[in-house]
Amino acid sequence: MTALLEVTNLEAWYGESQALHGVDLKVGEGEMITILGRNGVGKTTTLRTIMGMIRNRKGSIRLAGKDMLSVPLHKTAKHGIGFVPEERGIFATLTVEENLMLPPVVAAGGMDLDEIYELFPNLLERRTSPGTKLSGGEQQMLAMARILRTGIKVLLLDEPTEGLAPVIVQRIGEVLQKLKGRGMTVVLVEQNFRFAAKITDRFYLMDHGQMVGDFPVSDLPNRMGELNKVLGV
Ligand code: ATP
Repeated sequence: MTALLEVTNLEAWYGESQALHGVDLKVGEGEMITILGRNGVGKTTTLRTIMGMIRNRKGSIRLAGKDMLSVPLHKTAKHGIGFVPEERGIFATLTVEENLMLPPVVAAGGMDLDEIYELFPNLLERRTSPGTKLSGGEQQMLAMARILRTGIKVLLLDEPTEGLAPVIVQRIGEVLQKLKGRGMTVVLVEQNFRFAAKITDRFYLMDHGQMVGDFPVSDLPNRMGELNKVLGV
């Protein structure tokens, strides 16, 4: 497989404290991978380090072969990588549509407002509501929608289903299926592996700042022992 995003031996630090101890992962164009692991093993840090939010890093990050380690955070999106953090980052005083229009378009191929509202009809209904009035599920949809406008090629998505009702989780699953249909490449961090199993192509298991296993979703039934060990259940 030729990787669109290839991370090799990635290390990262918060001050003196090393959080990533040599992360390796590869994502093909149009592929969705899911990183699973217990709290605190470095899943969020992996996404933040790829994005360039953590500058104290070494190793290799390549996007379509291009070195991303030397690219500053404010230019990462221009190269085609977008990040939806767990905390979603919706501006409370701005309306849904103002939030949507906020990030600059970095490349052709992003969704226009009509396509976004078709994919997220609830955002159309709420387009003049301020961020403060949105439910958790609406905030998550808005955070995803906002980044899809920009034309990024790789979506880094941190626990999109966290704290949401099952019906909303299902909606997010449908949205991710549609994005796959459009050829989006996705790196998903999820606690809910049953949800991820419905949409992901492959899993990566993470422990102590490293990937300790990876396998296609079809192999999940054979890997439950390994998975339970990594998840500590
Ligand atoms: P969670 O699901 O709880 O977010 P995670 O697997 O995403 O877990 P990270 O948030 O990446 O884990 O954390 C990895 C390690 O880095 C943990 O030991 C955590 O305490 C530490 N860490 C995370 N953020 C910071 C920070 N801002 N400053 C210092 N240490 C941090």
